[in-house]
Amino acid sequence: MTSSAGSDAPQPLYAPREPIFPRRVRGWFRNLKWWILAVTLGIYYVTPWIRWDRGPNLPDQAVLVDLASRRFFFFWIEIWPQEFYYVAGLLIMAGLGLFLFTSALGRVWCGYACPQTVWTDLFILVERWIEGDRNARVRLFHAPWTGRKIRLRLAKWTLWLLIGLATGGAWVFYFADAPTLARDLVTGQAHPVAYSAIAILTATTFVFGGFMREQVCIYMCPWPRIQAAMMDPYTLTVSYRAHRGEPRGKHLKGRDAQRFGDCIDCNACVAVCPMGIDIRDGQQLECITCALCIDACDDVMQRIGKPRGLIDYVTLADLEAEARGEETPPAWRRVIRPRTLLYFTLWAGVGLAMLATLFMRDTVGLTVAHDRNPLYVTLSDGSVRNGYSVKIANRNGEPRDYRLSARAPQPVTVQIAGVEGDTVTVPPDSIRELRLFLTGHPVFAMHGDNPVEIWVEDVRTRERKRVANFFMGPEG
Ligand code: SF4
Ligand code: SF4
Repeated sequence: MTSSAGSDAPQPLYAPREPIFPRRVRGWFRNLKWWILAVTLGIYYVTPWIRWDRGPNLPDQAVLVDLASRRFFFFWIEIWPQEFYYVAGLLIMAGLGLFLFTSALGRVWCGYACPQTVWTDLFILVERWIEGDRNARVRLFHAPWTGRKIRLRLAKWTLWLLIGLATGGAWVFYFADAPTLARDLVTGQAHPVAYSAIAILTATTFVFGGFMREQVCIYMCPWPRIQAAMMDPYTLTVSYRAHRGEPRGKHLKGRDAQRFGDCIDCNACVAVCPMGIDIRDGQQLECITCALCIDACDDVMQRIGKPRGLIDYVTLADLEAEARGEETPPAWRRVIRPRTLLYFTLWAGVGLAMLATLFMRDTVGLTVAHDRNPLYVTLSDGSVRNGYSVKIANRNGEPRDYRLSARAPQPVTVQIAGVEGDTVTVPPDSIRELRLFLTGHPVFAMHGDNPVEIWVEDVRTRERKRVANFFMGPEG
C-alpha cells in the first residue's frame, strides 16, 4: 500500500483514536434527547421491579424471562415456547419500523434511542459534571498526571463503573425475581452465571460508553451502512444549507454582510458534535443525526440576528431546490409519502394481526399422540381399546380442572390412567401428561381406521380445545 501523496512509505494500518470533547449545548433537540434518555433508562432500570400477581409458583414480576420453564411474561401476556411466532412478529415489526423511520427521518434511531447513544450521553454528562466543559476537559487531557488529574479521573471512572454495574445488574433482574436475586447477589448466593453476566455487561458499558463512544458507531455497528442504503433524496436528515452559509467567514453582526454568507465560521457546530465531524462537509457516514449541531447553530444565528435553520432537518432534494431558488414544502410534509405510508401500513398490519391473535389465543393447549405399537387391543369382552399420550397445557396463573371427552363414529368410553372419572387438575402455567384410553363397545364395532376427535374443556370457563386423531380397530 502506498500513500496517495506518492510516497512509497507504507501507510500504518492502525491510527490512535483522536479524543473528542463535545461542548455543552442547549436547545430544543438537546432537551428532546434528555427526555428520551430519562424515559428509556427509566424503563430499563425500573421495569424488573414492577410487581404482578402470578400465583404461588412464579415470582410476582410483571416482565420476566423464565428460562427454566421457557416462558416469557409481559404483564398479562404469557408467551410459551410453541408461540415463538410472536417473537418472530416482533422482529418483523422492528425491521419494518426501522425501514419506516429511516426512510422518513434518516438515522433517527442512532441519534436518539440507540443504547450506545443513550449511555454515551449519560457518560458525557458525568464527565462534564466532574471535569468541566469542553475547554476544561481539553486542558485536563493535555495536563501532566498531577494529584488533581488523578482525583478527577478516579471520580469519573468510579461513577462510570457504577453506571455500568447498574446496567448489568438491571439486565439479570429480567431473568429472575428481582428482590430475591438482589438479596442473593449481595449475600454471595446468586448463581455464577448472574455474576458473570453482570461483570460482562459492566465492562462493555464502561468501555463502550467511556472510551470507545463514536468508534462503536463507526467501526463496530452495521446499521450506518444498512440505514444509508434505506435513505433516499426525500428523507429528512441533518444538513447544512451551503447555499445560504457560503462563503463562510468570521464577521460580526451586519459587518461584511455582502461579502459573506450566514456562516460566521464560529465552529460551534463542530465543537458540540459527539462524532467530531463538521456537518458543513456534507453528508457523512459518521453523522448519527443527533441534531446537536442544529441547536448550536440556531443559537449562533439568534445571537447574530439571522434566521434559524442554517443547519436543519431538510431533504437533499429540497436542499437542491432551495439552492436553485425554488419554493419547497414544509419539512414535515416529506415524512408523508407513498414509501413511508406503505411501510406504516405493513407495520401497523403486522401489529394489529399480532394483537388480534394475542387477545383471541387459547389459554388451554392440547396435544394427542396415538400409540404406535400396538395400534389397538381387543379385550376379553370383544371391545377394542386404543391408547393415546395426551398433554394438557394450562396457560393460566391458577390451577384449572379440565374434562376430557371423545367423539367417534360409534360411542367410545373415556378412561384416564390413574384418574377417577374424566376430569383432571392441571397446575398453573404448566403441562400435565396423561395416558388416555378410548374403548369401543363390541356392539358398535369400528373396523380399520376411524376418525376421532378428542376434546378438552375447562370446567369453569367452558373454554374448549379439539384435536383430530384416529381410532384403530381390526380389519372388517
Ligand atoms: S454532524 Fe450534527 S447531527 Fe451529525 S453527529 Fe455531529 S452534531 Fe450530530
Ligand atoms: S455553528 Fe453555524 S455559523 Fe457556526 S460554524 Fe457552524 S454552521 Fe457556521
